[in-house]
Amino acid sequence: MDTKHLGINSKLIHAGHQADASGSVSVPIYQTSTFAFRNAAHGAALFAGEEEGFIYTRIGNPTIGALEDCVAELESGCGGIATSSGMGAICTVYLALLESGAHMVSTASVYGPSRGLMEKHFSRFGVQSTYVDTSDLTQVERALRPNTKLLYVETPSNPTMQVTDIEQVSALAHAHDCLVVVDNTFASPYLQQPLKLGADVVLHSVTKFINGHADVVGGIIVAQDMDLYQRLRKAMVNSGCNMDPHQAFLVLRGLKTLGIRVERAQHSAMEIAGWLERQPEVKTVRYIGLESHPQHDLAKRQMSGFGSMISFELEGGMEAGRLLMDGVRIATLAVSLGGVETLIEHPASMTHAGLSSEERCAAGFSDGLVRYSVGIEDAEDLIADLRQALDAVSAQSLGRTRERAVSGVVKEPALA
Ligand SMILES: *Cc1c(COP(=O)(O)O)cnc(C)c1O
Repeated sequence: MDTKHLGINSKLIHAGHQADASGSVSVPIYQTSTFAFRNAAHGAALFAGEEEGFIYTRIGNPTIGALEDCVAELESGCGGIATSSGMGAICTVYLALLESGAHMVSTASVYGPSRGLMEKHFSRFGVQSTYVDTSDLTQVERALRPNTKLLYVETPSNPTMQVTDIEQVSALAHAHDCLVVVDNTFASPYLQQPLKLGADVVLHSVTKFINGHADVVGGIIVAQDMDLYQRLRKAMVNSGCNMDPHQAFLVLRGLKTLGIRVERAQHSAMEIAGWLERQPEVKTVRYIGLESHPQHDLAKRQMSGFGSMISFELEGGMEAGRLLMDGVRIATLAVSLGGVETLIEHPASMTHAGLSSEERCAAGFSDGLVRYSVGIEDAEDLIADLRQALDAVSAQSLGRTRERAVSGVVKEPALA
């Protein structure tokens, strides 16, 4: 079916799905490593690229292909490449688009391993990189060098929730003959389509919103044009970080409800972020849907919704954050995000522990920041859960202040 003219929720259900001979309504799992050729001439024609068809699952597979076609259409790209993980997608992008002597400019608060892979591994092969706040155009401009081949942007970024103007940075990078790649994991294709804003390549950790059920790790890349698509696919096939057919089946199943999951979670996130802002124990809330967010207007222009990721910091800093994470009962203390269940985590000791305290500070967040991924539970239950955890934080710090007062360390109770 031609689904190009359909709305995004219809695309989520129908794009990429080709009925097979059995008439199967859901995409079957083609759990096979290899495909039989009709005869020697057929095999030769497939290898020569003269005929379309399947050869070997690392190169391509119908179940994986259905997912690739669906996400490529959601992102308005010319082709998708599914990978074993989000990092597999990022590794493929670096491998395909950079070489010895090349330079990359990237978002400072980028997903930790995206930076680690570059600084610890690609650097050994002579690739250079610079990390700046890409939400600030002048910082991007200053970081560009004659050998800059790639501008790698994560927006909204993790966990600082900074928003980069994709249209502006793409125009700037293209004027310097530099490709633009956007990690669109936090927004999902439901809320933001970077290729339409000028980016050349978009990628996702499908582990997060696209699959959405905390039961699969996977990634996907979508390219704007055929040349980039071919380069990226070759790098994926040669490095062997392909997705598995069963993995693709699960992701296809999760993807169908992306729209209703995102709508519901972001509705709750708005309510929770507003509520958090009014709590005396909370120092700062970063949610792009709040008018207090510095790039709220840009997010409104660039995205069709504000998503469900919130970062916040308590008055009591790191210690209070730790007490809160131990105090919540509905939210699960775990890394990852974008699933049907609410997750809470501490970037400084978990997802961003690979950075030094100074690097985290330069990336724009303190060691006291807590990240909260809103799921699809009832918002009032999540709020009550946070409230009882905040009560526990207050009770503990009040208790500690009293202890110190009694032992003579603190004369006057400071505050809870
Ligand atoms: C999780 C994540 C990744 C890495 O994806 P995996 O599927 O865990 O390999 C990359 N970028 C962002 C923004 C992420 O949240």
